[in-house]
Amino acid sequence: MENLQVKKYEDLLVHNGLKRTGARIQVLEILSNRNSATSQPYLETVVGKEIDRVTLYRILKAFEEKGIIHKVIDNQGTANYAICSGACSAHHHDDGHVHFNCSTCLRVYCLDEVKIPTLKMPKGFEIGQVNLIVSGICQDCNSSN
Ligand SMILES: [Zn+2]
Ligand SMILES: [Zn+2]
Ligand SMILES: [Zn+2]
Repeated sequence: MENLQVKKYEDLLVHNGLKRTGARIQVLEILSNRNSATSQPYLETVVGKEIDRVTLYRILKAFEEKGIIHKVIDNQGTANYAICSGACSAHHHDDGHVHFNCSTCLRVYCLDEVKIPTLKMPKGFEIGQVNLIVSGICQDCNSSN
């Protein structure tokens, strides 16, 4: 890992009042370097030797609370995690983008440029959070045909 990258992750942790630990930096690095969201089972296989499940769970939960990452439950019911855009902060996520779940490779993508449209609710219904998952075939799987 490059020093400059490590510095970036350390700054992010400090900025959010989290201690700089090797495990946290490792998780940040994995999540940052993928072009799709990272599933929890995948994370567990990659870091499983160094980070136990409970620690990993706590790291993900803390990151989510701080507005560093957001969780996406895919069509299989698996939790996936992706780095948030700069608009998120502690206890306030602003990830109003569509998620795409590929039915071939099962990856989940954050489509940052595809915004969730404003939904008009019936009287008395107040929106808390909107999740929109689109399924289909992703760019990678499409081009390999
Ligand atoms: Zn967020
Ligand atoms: Zn795919
Ligand atoms: Zn996302």
